Amino acid sequence: MSHLFLRTLRDDPADAEVASHKLLVRAGYVRRIAPGVYSWLPLGLKVLRQVERVVREEMNAIGAQEISLPALLPRDPYETTNRWTEYGDGLFRLQDRKGGDYLLGPTHEEMFALTVKGEYNSYKDFPVTLYQIQTKYRDEERPRAGILRGREFVMKDSYSFDLTDEGLTRSYQAHRDAYERIFARLGVKYVIVSATSGAMGGSASEEFLAESDAGEDTYVRCLESGYAANVEAVKTLAPEPIPFDGLPDAVVHDTPDTPTIESLVASASQVLGREVTAAETLKNILVKVRQPGGDWELLGIGIPGDREVDDKRLEASLEPAEVELLGESDFTANPFLVKGYIGPKALLDNGVRYLVDPRVVDGTSWITGADEEGKHVFGLVAGRDFTPDGTIEAAEVRDGDPSPDGAGPLVSARGIEIGHVFQLGRKYTDAFAVDVLGENGKPVRPTMGSYGVGVSRLVAVIAEQQHDDKGLRWPAEVAPFGVHLVIANKDDAAREGAEGLAADLDKAGVEVLLDDRKASPGVKFKDSELLGVPLVVVVGRGWAEGNVELRDRFTGESREVPVESALQEILAAVRG
Ligand code: ATP
Ligand code: MG
Repeated sequence: MSHLFLRTLRDDPADAEVASHKLLVRAGYVRRIAPGVYSWLPLGLKVLRQVERVVREEMNAIGAQEISLPALLPRDPYETTNRWTEYGDGLFRLQDRKGGDYLLGPTHEEMFALTVKGEYNSYKDFPVTLYQIQTKYRDEERPRAGILRGREFVMKDSYSFDLTDEGLTRSYQAHRDAYERIFARLGVKYVIVSATSGAMGGSASEEFLAESDAGEDTYVRCLESGYAANVEAVKTLAPEPIPFDGLPDAVVHDTPDTPTIESLVASASQVLGREVTAAETLKNILVKVRQPGGDWELLGIGIPGDREVDDKRLEASLEPAEVELLGESDFTANPFLVKGYIGPKALLDNGVRYLVDPRVVDGTSWITGADEEGKHVFGLVAGRDFTPDGTIEAAEVRDGDPSPDGAGPLVSARGIEIGHVFQLGRKYTDAFAVDVLGENGKPVRPTMGSYGVGVSRLVAVIAEQQHDDKGLRWPAEVAPFGVHLVIANKDDAAREGAEGLAADLDKAGVEVLLDDRKASPGVKFKDSELLGVPLVVVVGRGWAEGNVELRDRFTGESREVPVESALQEILAAVRG
C-alpha cells in the first residue's frame, strides 16, 4: 500500500446520492472525469476485471465465442435499420475529417448481423453465438449514481444466430441459465421480470433486475406466486363481462363546472343522492399518435376515473408509434372535443380511435362526459351504449391490484437492470438480407437473439447490495485482493513476519494487499473496512505472543490464530 496508486477520502463526494457511488469514490476505486464518464483506478479496475472474468467464463461455458468489434462505427448500417434516427439524442455522433458520419456504438445488433453475413453462408455453420465485452456509449439524459448509469460503460453483449424458432428458444434459454449462474456467483440478489421489448421490437424479452431501493426501474411482484414484471408489461386482470339485462338506460344530467374528476364526483353524488366514487367515472384522455413514417392521428383513451395514466405504460403499449398530448390548436381543429366533458360518443361518431382500460368490460356502467359543456351522462354501459375499438394498458398499476396470474395482490419494488435477454427474431437479418444456403438448397434467413449484461454497472450494484456503514464488502469472487494484510506493529520482527506471510500467500496463489504504510493502526483499520477485501489479517500486538488476527469483513467476526498455522488458516478461509 505504500506504493499503491490509491488515495482514500474522508468525505463523500458532493454529487453522490447513492451509497455505492459514495463508497467507490471514497475508497479510490473510480474518479469522475465528466458527467457519466469515469476513470477506473487500480482497485476498481481489478474488481471490474473480476466481474468480466465471471461473465466470460459463463459465456464460454455455453459455447459463445468472444470477438471484439470497434466502438467507432460508420453511420450506414444504423441508417439501414433506421436506428441512426430512432436513437435520437441518445447517440454520440461524430464526423471524421472528410465529413463522414460516425457514431459511438450504444449496442451492436447491426454489426453482429453484418459480421455473420460476412463470414457464413451455409446452414452447416449454424447455430452460432458471438459475444464481446466492450465499452458502449450512450448520451444518457440523466447519467446517475456514478458508474450505475454512465455515458461510457462496459457491457457484455452477445448475439445468437439460429435457423429455426426452436433453435432461438434454446439459445435464449442457454443465456437465461448462464445469467442466473453469473448473478449467483456474483452474489447479487435479483428478480427476472418479463419486459416489453423497447425500441428493438421482437418477441420474448426478460430483464434481470437487482433488488435495490437505489434502482430506477419499478417492478411489481406477487409474493404468493413469485410473479414479477416490469410495470410496462403488467397485463390487467379484466373482470368477467356483466349481462346487460335490467341495467337502467343512460341519462344525461347537468353537472355544471365539473371538468375534473374531483368536481364530477361531488356533483354526481348530489345528482344521485349517494356517495359516488371516482372508480365509477370513466375519464377520456386525448392524445395524438404517429406511426413511424405516418401522420399524427387522434386517439381517445378511456380509463376509470380513480386511476392516472402511466406514461411509460402508455408509450410501451403504443410502441413503435410516438405519443404526444394535444395542444390548443388540436382542440380548435376538432371542435367536437369539449374539454373536460369528452365522452365516448363524440369520439366514436367522429371516427377517433377509442381504446379503453381492460376493466371497462361489457356490461360495466359509467358516469362519463356527454360532449357538452357542464353535462355528463350517467349509466352509460359498455357494449350496449358504446363499443370501443379495443383495450389499452395505459392506466397505472397500483399496490394491491390483482396479479395477472390471479394468485394474489401485486406489490411494487425497485430494481436496477443488470441484464436483458431478448428474442429479436429476424429484424436485423431482414434489414441486411442475411441469407444462407439451406439444407434443401433454398436460402434461409437466421433468427437472432440479443443479450446484454451491464458489466461496469454490476460493480456498483454489488457495492450497493453488499456495503455496510463502514465501507465496501466484496464477495470473494470479485474482491480486488484475496487478503488485506495489515501491519499494526512497529516491531521489525513483526514487519518481517508479515512480509514473509504475504510472500507465502502470494506463492500459494492468493493476491495480498499488504498495508506496510507508516500510519497508525486506527487509520489502517478504517481503510481496510472502507476498501472491503473480504479477509483482513492483522499482524499486531499479538505477534509477540505468536498470534495473528483474522477478521471477516462480511460477518465482522475476528479470531486469533497461531503464527505457525496462520498460512493454513488463511488459505482455508480464502478458499472457503
Ligand atoms: P436502462 O433501462 O437501465 O437504461 P437499457 O434497457 O437501455 O438499460 P440494454 O440496452 O438492455 O439497457 O443494455 C444491456 C445492459 O447494459 C443493461 O441491462 C444494463 O445492465 C447495462 N446498461 C445499459 N445502459 C447502461 C448505462 N448507461 N450505464 C451502465 N450500464 C448500462
Ligand atoms: Mg434493457
